[in-house]
Amino acid sequence: MSLYLDYNATAPLCEQAKKVMIEGMDWSGNASSVHHFGRQVRQKIEEARQNIGDFFQVKAGDVIFTSGATEANHLSLCGFEGRVIVSAIEHDSIDQARPDREVCPVGPKGTIDLNALEVLLQSQEGPVLVSIMAANNETGTIQPIKEVVALARKYNAFVHCDAVQAIGRIPLLWNGIDLFSVSAHKLGGPQGVGALIMRTDMPLKAQLRGGGQERSFRSGTENFLGILGFAAAVMAIKEQNWNFVKTLRDRLESQLKDQCSDVIFLGHEAPRLPNTAVIAMKGVKSATQVMNFDLAGIAISAGSACSSGKVKRSRVLAAMGIAEELAACSVRVSLGPTSSEELIDRFVDVWLNIYERAQAK
Ligand code: PMP
Repeated sequence: MSLYLDYNATAPLCEQAKKVMIEGMDWSGNASSVHHFGRQVRQKIEEARQNIGDFFQVKAGDVIFTSGATEANHLSLCGFEGRVIVSAIEHDSIDQARPDREVCPVGPKGTIDLNALEVLLQSQEGPVLVSIMAANNETGTIQPIKEVVALARKYNAFVHCDAVQAIGRIPLLWNGIDLFSVSAHKLGGPQGVGALIMRTDMPLKAQLRGGGQERSFRSGTENFLGILGFAAAVMAIKEQNWNFVKTLRDRLESQLKDQCSDVIFLGHEAPRLPNTAVIAMKGVKSATQVMNFDLAGIAISAGSACSSGKVKRSRVLAAMGIAEELAACSVRVSLGPTSSEELIDRFVDVWLNIYERAQAK
């Protein structure tokens, strides 16, 4: 039995996305060409843009297709001429986009320290962009976006939101957010495509220049199949039941708690995504746990696995003040609409089995 519990890394491609992408393979033509092949592809791309715009309640023209959220985050931060303030728990694609970024700390619950943000906003004149994620990829912690927007408005700052982990999973209000980043593969679409949604005409400088596609904010021939799959996945969100996902996550946590007094859950003091649990198993390193779960057919993740697959110290858990020994023994489990009670019970059995074997050593 194979058990996929790593939705925050990527969600399986949904059937709707797969279907339109397979159909799209029969279409050829460059959307910028004036002949009918090109015009047909252009029409499909613009339909996809309209459907995505409708979902987010923005104008179709506000949707700038990119190669994913990493690029959308870079376009927002590197394309902005002014100071950039980011929270201490942002994804690496935000944290490393601008070496001159100013970092706002988070409190022990993992939410941004609003007093510290206000001090940073007061500290200097000039254009400022605050970048805050909607929900954290490692812990699922939901950030107080409304309060961040209110503070930013007070100081005439712009707000960018990395919304990757939150879309479809929790209701989001975009009021006052100038820009937000979306990644198709976290919501059932294909990998390598996403968008920056610009709600206002922000003074952003393009990072990829050339053919002038995407209103010149992002030159390069559009990822046609990716865009088709992305729009289909966005439209399929309404068919997903994330309340059910939450009952599964809660079942997983309560069963573990009932059967092992030693289990520790991290990052659950603040509101969090319905699908994420961070679980520490004392004395057993994250990488060892991930390997043992994999041997049992279960896919989970160590809190912070970098692209090389090596586990490095979690910057997010460190920013929350969680002791390194504990963080080093924690894993992230992230569920999705394809998870089931049976699979959750299997996870609990395997967790207890790994724990008992480690105790016996
Ligand atoms: N932001 C967050 C919060 C993420 O979880 C990820 C993916 N791990 C990204 C940005 C990067 O997205 P992409 O894979 O589309 O570049």
